[in-house]
Amino acid sequence: MSVSRQNDHLLAEDLSSRAVTVKSFPSVMYLEATRGCPYTCIMCKVPDEHGRKSVDVSQDLLNRVSPYFQYLEILGIHLYGEPLISRNIDYFIEATRANDCYLHMNSTGFFLKPELVDRLLATRLHIMFSIHAGTSATYRKIMGQDLQRVMDNISYLTEKSTLSGSPDNEFWFSYIVVKETVNEIDDFLLLAHRTGVSKVRFMKLDPNPKILKGAYREAEDFVYRYHEQFNREVGQTFLDQLPRIRERAQELGITIEAGNMEFAAAHGVSLKQAAHRASRLLPIELNILPLVKRRVDPSGGGCCLAPWTGQIQISQDGNVNLCCSARYSLGNVFEKSLEEIWNDHRIRAIRGDFHNGLFPRTCGYCKGMPADEYGVKIVGRYA
Ligand code: SF4
Ligand code: SF4
Repeated sequence: MSVSRQNDHLLAEDLSSRAVTVKSFPSVMYLEATRGCPYTCIMCKVPDEHGRKSVDVSQDLLNRVSPYFQYLEILGIHLYGEPLISRNIDYFIEATRANDCYLHMNSTGFFLKPELVDRLLATRLHIMFSIHAGTSATYRKIMGQDLQRVMDNISYLTEKSTLSGSPDNEFWFSYIVVKETVNEIDDFLLLAHRTGVSKVRFMKLDPNPKILKGAYREAEDFVYRYHEQFNREVGQTFLDQLPRIRERAQELGITIEAGNMEFAAAHGVSLKQAAHRASRLLPIELNILPLVKRRVDPSGGGCCLAPWTGQIQISQDGNVNLCCSARYSLGNVFEKSLEEIWNDHRIRAIRGDFHNGLFPRTCGYCKGMPADEYGVKIVGRYA
């Protein structure tokens, strides 16, 4: 039996018992391929916090984590930078091809040139394009770029993917629903349809210092503030439209996949998540918010597979975070092996809470990572 199939079996066992100490390895890993970004998307903190120069992951880090690629279903290559700028893109194409897993990324598609598309199609792709507006004017205000050029890039990819007979490739559009965009969702669905993308997801806005203060785009004389863009009113407008959005998506043959906007709007998390933002940076042991731990409620959309499947985020400094919502470090691969970190006291504390039917405090108001997070298998074929 192959290593990945063995891991599938073990993961299924660990998951079904919600084991605190596991025998399996993560099946979803994100690596920070690049850090820093020359672009200027208004809601993004990366250029402010990590600089405008894109820095590549070191060979030393790749050597430490690549032995674990054999267990993966998904290798993600985005964290604090635009992954398509990575100078190691051919390394990741070859690594995912050799280990028969998806190459995953969230990308704006700005840099998706035909020559790059042709190279990417050598492996199995799972790309979520950040298309955070429905019209060119709003797209320019938010993303600072030309929407039509990005649509042309993505159309080339979807057409070539179909022609090359790669039915497993997954291309999604991701849309952050805010005041500026909540009434452009029909346009957004049409963009997806026209570019041959049949899966979309709706995401909430995450707070960061830049937008809590207010980000400004001079060329458009446009200010973007967290509490104006994401609040109860915006959430309610979204929820009111949702039945019609679902109908329209169905007419266009588009599936609305797992996203966190509906949960966030229904639970009014905009203020709560801003308050929790500071405490989630603390080590797990020091987390005190929320004061009362939430109960896991699978029927209400509240469960999480990340402590078993992983959605581990390995940053260029070697720190390993559990998922894209949790910012504390489980350990550092320059100090311990990933195998040790994956059963160390921090991750066991998190699994222990879930095992007992509770969300760990450090998860704050996250809805959790469901099995259909990626629309592809991440919990082993026997789960
Ligand atoms: S969203 Fe992506 S492309 Fe835009 S500034 Fe942030 S890292 Fe760069
Ligand atoms: S509930 Fe959210 S923050 Fe907690 S482990 Fe799952 S995905 Fe991460």
